[in-house]
Amino acid sequence: MLLGTNLVRAGRGRAAFRATALFVVVFALTVQYFLLRWPGWMYSYLIPETDVRLGWLSPAFFAAVLGAGLAGATVSLHLIRAGRMALAALNVLLGIGAWIAIWIVTWDRYFHLGDYASYHAGLAIPVPESAPFTRALNVVGAIQGIVGLACAVWIVFEGRRARRSGAVQPDPAPIEWRDAGAAAPRTPPPPSVVEGGLIRGIRPIDGTPLELVPVTPLSEIDGIVRRARDAQREWALRPVSERADAIRAAGKRLLARAEEAAAILEEENGRPRAESYLSEIVPSADLFSFWARKGALLLQGTDVPIDPLTFPGKRGVVERVPRGVVGAITPWNFPLMLPLRTVVPALLAGNAVVLKPSEHGARAGAFLGSLFDGLLPPHLLAVVQGGGEEAQAILSVGLDALVFIGSPRTGRAVARACADTLTPLVLELGGKDAAIVLEDADLDRTVNGVVWGAFANAGQNCAAIERCYVLEGIADAFIARAHARIATLRTGWGGEGEVDVGPLTTPSQKAIVDAQLREAAERGVVRGRAERGPRFVEVEAPEGSVVVRGTPVRGTDASGVEVEGTKVGGTEVPPAGGGEVLAGAIPPGDGLQVAPHLVVDPPEDLALVREETFGPILPIFRVRDEEEAIRRANSSPYGLTVSVWSRDLRRAERIGRRIHAGVITVNNHAFTGGLAQAPWGGVRGSGFGVTNSPQMLEELTRPRFVLVDRSKAEAELWWYPYDAGVLRLARGLTRLRSGEFGALGDVLGGFLARRRATGGGHARR
Ligand code: NAD
Repeated sequence: MLLGTNLVRAGRGRAAFRATALFVVVFALTVQYFLLRWPGWMYSYLIPETDVRLGWLSPAFFAAVLGAGLAGATVSLHLIRAGRMALAALNVLLGIGAWIAIWIVTWDRYFHLGDYASYHAGLAIPVPESAPFTRALNVVGAIQGIVGLACAVWIVFEGRRARRSGAVQPDPAPIEWRDAGAAAPRTPPPPSVVEGGLIRGIRPIDGTPLELVPVTPLSEIDGIVRRARDAQREWALRPVSERADAIRAAGKRLLARAEEAAAILEEENGRPRAESYLSEIVPSADLFSFWARKGALLLQGTDVPIDPLTFPGKRGVVERVPRGVVGAITPWNFPLMLPLRTVVPALLAGNAVVLKPSEHGARAGAFLGSLFDGLLPPHLLAVVQGGGEEAQAILSVGLDALVFIGSPRTGRAVARACADTLTPLVLELGGKDAAIVLEDADLDRTVNGVVWGAFANAGQNCAAIERCYVLEGIADAFIARAHARIATLRTGWGGEGEVDVGPLTTPSQKAIVDAQLREAAERGVVRGRAERGPRFVEVEAPEGSVVVRGTPVRGTDASGVEVEGTKVGGTEVPPAGGGEVLAGAIPPGDGLQVAPHLVVDPPEDLALVREETFGPILPIFRVRDEEEAIRRANSSPYGLTVSVWSRDLRRAERIGRRIHAGVITVNNHAFTGGLAQAPWGGVRGSGFGVTNSPQMLEELTRPRFVLVDRSKAEAELWWYPYDAGVLRLARGLTRLRSGEFGALGDVLGGFLARRRATGGGHARR
């Protein structure tokens, strides 16, 4: 019972259910085995005890029957308490069904409500007495026994583990405060593509102009927000199931128009279609169906247990109330999935939504809005097109909550605006995610995973791997393989299925990435293998080079002091810690391509190590041991996600927990952003709050506590007068709380005195 409770509390309800269901099935089969193997025992209750071999009805057998029943019942009970009614009902039905199935299957053959003689007279068909049959039965029986036992052991073991882990919050890492402000990039803000009432922009693949999109006039924004507010009142009154139907229908439209979506993402973002399907369209479809399926249950009110002795007759419930008008200001790198993360659950929870997509994702934003056409009350979902000015205008009208996803720089401006109006806010900002590769990592999988984690969406992912710490023991092999793997990536632009890493999406993003690479070159981490030597060296990048290495070099400066550093083009540059750049050849074309870069051991103070890159650069650092990896992974002002790669899963989990981040993955990276059921959010400079998962409802709704008192008592215990009776009662209740059951006399005496004093007692219902 306790173990079941622990499992359910630890969120292992589904696993417990599966193990229990398997256990019940195995057990039912075991009974079947007994029936086939020794049919005689079935008749034990019809005949004198002395005539049957009761040995088969062993205590272990009965204990197993009882155990299976109890385990099934416990899991069902807890599933019911957790509000998972469908699973609970299924669990019960499965148990009962298994038994009924056995009886139905065996009825003709063995079960006769006659006497023992009729059984022997052949009314029941005897089991064939052949040796192979018996052997087969024995083998099946043994396998069933082992599986059943394994299930039982699992339930006990996991139950204990769940109890242990429940006792400690599993984050033993000391939390160092870090100034989120340190995450501010040194690069200047990008130039705007919003000009003269139009959103411009170019196709990343070839640099040709995109279709213009009209900006929403600032003068209209006030009306848009107000109309959304009016529409929300009616929407919130609709049953959740009705709202879920609209969500489901919009999800179906996305699936029906998937190719159109992929084409928009290709044109506006430069994203290869396969990537659009896998990282935007499929996850978005799952997001629609997750919220449509789970919304009603997740939005249900929850009872609050109230001690009936001190507070008799009271019933309390926490309801989830929509916030009102929720704003969503979103970036361009996943222009479908990221807005939908807010739009879908916010609508489902009864809110209106004003979406301001990125000016670089305006066409995807318009497409997203069209998915809901005719499914929602007019004005409930509004798409405001434009840039920062339009976003600030929305904020100034007054929202009831805001989910902002974007850069740390803009995040700060948004937080300041929300502070003025006390608007509840979620900030999902940038990242500088680390991957830690341990000596025992599976090299092939890890290299593939890290390379994908760094270069997917051309690195324009808030959770892209932008720092990879590899333990010395495996570093050379890892770097060599990563280099070889990157060399196989097809970059630039080509036909369908011919590109792995597309171009960057915006010229300003390319400028940032180029600037970081330029700085690295100026600091001595330059293209082309640097020669080791005692003096400053000057290194030229070979044409289309794939490897650039800058190793620590030492020399003597003008005053004769020995320093470390490099010199590029005859100019002395500050000392650098060395480094190595592996770069793919830049493909021809006018687009925004940047070849994937692998930079080994670059100096820590380079922008490409400290700041968010948001482009295809993967810095790899050799580290001595796991402690150094943890320390350096934690040294960032960001904290979005981290991944640890190792065959020793427990060690990797333990190390992952010591990194200050919102999401920890072992042997995988970042893909959990596409799981609608899992929380996504960061710490420090990566922001606060959460998107995705049931936890997001905390942001999109507010808890409202409703207490209904059915007590008919004239006065409550804590109401006036504070007489001697109430004091005695209060003292008794206090002592009771410290476990003194002798205080019951005081409680009773005080209660009666209070009753007399108030002419009815405080506790009469
Ligand atoms: P951005 O901050 O430039 O723009 C984000 C949104 O804010 C856009 O819609 C933009 O129009 C709007 N905006 C611009 N100025 C504004 C202002 N003054 N007030 C209010 N809104 C304003 O970011 P971006 O370049 O579109 O996106 C890239 C950034 O987003 C990266 O830093 C990336 O890490 C981050 N990001 C984070 C997550 C996450 O989940 N944490 C996900 C995706 C992207």
